[in-house]
Amino acid sequence: AKGMGKGGWQRYQSDLAHAMVQRLELRTQLHEAIEDEQFVLQFQPIVELADQRVTGVEALVRWQHPVRGLLGPFHFVEAAEENGAILGIGDWVMREALRQIAAWKAADPDTSLRYVSVNVSPRQFRAPDFVEQVRSALAAAGARPEWLLLEVTESLVLKDADKVVQDLRALRALGVRVAIDDFGTGYSSLSYLRQMPVDVLKLDKSFIDDILTSRQQHALVEAIVTLAGNLDLAVVAEGIEQAGQRAALDTMGCRYGQGYHFAKPLWPADIPALIESPRPA
Ligand code: C2E
Ligand code: CA
Ligand code: CA
Ligand code: CA
Repeated sequence: AKGMGKGGWQRYQSDLAHAMVQRLELRTQLHEAIEDEQFVLQFQPIVELADQRVTGVEALVRWQHPVRGLLGPFHFVEAAEENGAILGIGDWVMREALRQIAAWKAADPDTSLRYVSVNVSPRQFRAPDFVEQVRSALAAAGARPEWLLLEVTESLVLKDADKVVQDLRALRALGVRVAIDDFGTGYSSLSYLRQMPVDVLKLDKSFIDDILTSRQQHALVEAIVTLAGNLDLAVVAEGIEQAGQRAALDTMGCRYGQGYHFAKPLWPADIPALIESPRPA
């Protein structure tokens, strides 16, 4: 701690201890939070890059903590994955997201909103009855399988390939689509993914950040988009923050995007207005 006086160092240490205590406290409260229904969902639009029409929304979980206020996933998803609470949280998220899309569809049968995207943690996907949970959640919400896109990570697809592939096939047989989330941050290659029964690639924000400033990065993203197209995979570019990025990705042939440039994660009540009146491109 160069440049810190003795007082600064002590304060640093006690801040650190305080942060650790808070994390531990949150971890022990996770199961109770499920029972008390303290989780809520925001939804971030996924748009057609050509005309900015909203085609889907991604469900993003938040914890409405009675003392700490609204907490994003950074504060608790990792701990929940470690202590197993993610199983209950994930099941709630899927059911709530499906209930919500069924309500939007019922309110406007001609809506351009086609699906809700739900993040599935590796531990949740590996549960022996995961496919059955999906089937049961769809039935409970009266939702059609096409309304659901499941986002899984590259690491899931790399381990236990046989069981995972079998379950991915079963989900697709139901009519549920599957996306690889944060593509490019793990170790899988497109040729490997080719053998995987998935429908969508979500290209991580770290790839999008530099497409306007780095020719290499631009070329790399363009190559991925072209290859994905040849493999019949739809591509969603994540983390689009600038108009120039939208235009560049559209020109490359990337069809879908998501990011603050279009909309931040929103409360459910704010979604319908956005779908009815898309912004001009
Ligand atoms: P993710 O799946 O990659 O979700 C996208 C994250 O990027 C969201 O953060 C979103 O708010 C943020 N984001 C979207 N557009 C932009 C942009 O233009 N710029 C920037 N800087 N950020 C943008 P959030 O909501 O904090 O979620 C973080 C992560 O937590 C998610 O990353 C996902 O991995 C995880 N997560 C969220 N909800 C769930 C859930 O229900 N279950 C599980 N297992 N994980 C979840
Ligand atoms: Ca995601
Ligand atoms: Ca992502
Ligand atoms: Ca990401």
